[in-house]
Amino acid sequence: MAADRIRHVSLSSVTLPLDVPISDAKVLTGRQKPMTEIAFLFAEITTEEGRQGTGFSYSKRAGGPAQYAHAKEVGANLLGQDPSDIGKVYDVLLWAGASVGRSGVATQALAAIDIALWDLKAKRAGLPLAKLLGSYRDSVRTYNTSGGFLHAPIEEVKARASQSLEDGIGGIKIKVGQPDTKEDLRRLAAVREHIGDDVPLMVDANQQWDRATALRFGRAVEEFGLVWIEEPLDAYDAEGHAQLAAALDTPIATGEMLSSVAEHVRLIEARAADIIQPDAPRVGGITPFLRLAALADHAGLQLAPHFAMEIHLHLAAAYPREPWVEHFEWLNPLFDERLETRDGRMIVPDRPGLGFTLSEQCRKWTVDSVEFRAGAR
Ligand SMILES: [Mg+2]
Repeated sequence: MAADRIRHVSLSSVTLPLDVPISDAKVLTGRQKPMTEIAFLFAEITTEEGRQGTGFSYSKRAGGPAQYAHAKEVGANLLGQDPSDIGKVYDVLLWAGASVGRSGVATQALAAIDIALWDLKAKRAGLPLAKLLGSYRDSVRTYNTSGGFLHAPIEEVKARASQSLEDGIGGIKIKVGQPDTKEDLRRLAAVREHIGDDVPLMVDANQQWDRATALRFGRAVEEFGLVWIEEPLDAYDAEGHAQLAAALDTPIATGEMLSSVAEHVRLIEARAADIIQPDAPRVGGITPFLRLAALADHAGLQLAPHFAMEIHLHLAAAYPREPWVEHFEWLNPLFDERLETRDGRMIVPDRPGLGFTLSEQCRKWTVDSVEFRAGAR
């Protein structure tokens, strides 16, 4: 097969409004304001043969415009490249922006492009991305997060949990980490009583405890048989997480805030978590995600990728150890397709690539866009 070439790149900045302002522990401790929207960077890549790939990156609160601006600066370097050589193309973009580093906003800008290239490659092969990567399963255990936030009164959290279970979602996660730990314990006990002992249940403190509070809370909730305690400590406190993981029976999960493979390596080497929670858009795309997933598997860790189920379902399906995927319906309006949940699991779509097309509504929420065309540099 002759090499195909990239002839057109479109980058769009899209603002997704949320139905209600969202609060986790970071809001209750006064560090952040409630979240009202999410900024997306979409990359759409077209080749000379007319093949097409779509990828996205995102930012909650600040950072979206910076991701878009960086992608716009380096995007023209894609023209004329063979889209199959993803690692090589990624390096070209990395070196173009080397001055601003290999983590954070700089590589999150590249993530949208990298994910579009993987989508394109899988479509070219006529395979769902999970199959292109090498899948271990056709469905992945899934749990709901969106129903368990701290702005929601406990009756609403319970009703949303029941709805999730009815919808075929297998586990329930609730937010904790409030300034009053007793209130966290009351909400946790109420949810456990509501859903019963057999439903997998997780808690997420969003980094808001110190080491002593996390240990005390962890000991107090061992009886709940939680699947994991998520982000008990600051995201960069690998040593603290390692001590906690060693002291508790309940598994420790973290990693969603880290923005590079190098940062995850530190976590893995410190034995800081039982369950690693990388986020492909945040670590720079699928290419770096696969590198750290290989390291995590080698270290014997479980995987529960953060957010963006539309991408992570495929990546989780291709992880050797039985993973979890996080259910958030927030991104649904951006796409024409919906993911199916059944018997506690999310079904990997059989459509080629990631299996998503951008909706008309997504186009309407576009606040800025730019195009690069071969021959029109
Ligand atoms: Mg989390």
